[in-house]
Amino acid sequence: MIDITDLTVEQLAEAWQRIRDTFPAHEVDPYVLDCARRLSADPGGEQAHVWVSGLLAMSGHLARRPVREAERAALDALRAAAKELGGRACSHEDHPYEAEMDSMEDEIWLGDNGLLTGELPAQDGDTDAGKVLCPGNVAGWARLAVDVIAPLTVRRIPVGAPTHHQSSINTLSGIVNDYPYCDPYEVLVGEADCLPARPTRGVLAGYLVTMNATCWYAASERVTDRSVPAAMVKGVEAAVALLDDGPCAHGPGEHPDTADPDHASQVGYLLRSPGGRAEIAEYHGWDEEDEDEVDDGGDGDEPLDAWLCPAFLHELASETIDTLTQALAAFDDEPAESQDGA
Ligand SMILES: [Zn+2]
Ligand SMILES: [Zn+2]
Repeated sequence: MIDITDLTVEQLAEAWQRIRDTFPAHEVDPYVLDCARRLSADPGGEQAHVWVSGLLAMSGHLARRPVREAERAALDALRAAAKELGGRACSHEDHPYEAEMDSMEDEIWLGDNGLLTGELPAQDGDTDAGKVLCPGNVAGWARLAVDVIAPLTVRRIPVGAPTHHQSSINTLSGIVNDYPYCDPYEVLVGEADCLPARPTRGVLAGYLVTMNATCWYAASERVTDRSVPAAMVKGVEAAVALLDDGPCAHGPGEHPDTADPDHASQVGYLLRSPGGRAEIAEYHGWDEEDEDEVDDGGDGDEPLDAWLCPAFLHELASETIDTLTQALAAFDDEPAESQDGA
């Protein structure tokens, strides 16, 4: 049994990276608790960037699991660091974490964030080394990690989904508005197949919302290829198996309204990144200058975290599967002759 407290920062960093890349579930909690304890002990201290880096590396793992002691400890520590460090003045107009937000894959940073060494890889082109360890940059990364673990619970995240998500939003908008400018078969099957093996909460929720927003199209006479609804049912069933069974904390009418497929298909992608979620929050009128944390939905009529509610997502997924299953049954009942879409 390894005693984590005896490990050097270098050895710890290796373990964090192993956890990020290989997901050895049994290893995670001790490393998260150790890292969170060290950050909580001095959240604005000289070593805070090291422990923020560790929790950031492990954030994808924490974002896939039900609320537990380790997750709570990580969130408390990261929030304390964001508050301590984020309140300090600096002369920078921007920080490196903002540029990295565009290149993350399913919310997991596989690149080097520079926090451990204080340096970014050369190709970044930003030569101002002071920016990497600037408290404003470390606080920015801490907020992103909080938002990945507990989506839509933190303010002051730069608004804007990654570029490749924006292009998916545009493509899907064309389809759900019945004006596709890409091959809808290819797009819908591609969407159905894009769920990562270990999605974060945000990516999982976004996937299910998108499938629901597009299922009416896949189930309509516009789609004459059975493999489209079939791929979507398969994807949604796989996603449902990954949902938490956590209780619903919402009252009647507090779950999001998904009646408008254009809005829902957009939200489906915005839910998959911190910048996209910041866009949802902005739309709902969160005041960016307020405190770092929130626990309600701002002045909107529905709590924003309801988009992530397992009960809401279970319900949405059943609706999606029902719609698609009916479409599949119609294919099986009426072969060939009724497919001219009139
Ligand atoms: Zn700065
Ligand atoms: Zn709920």
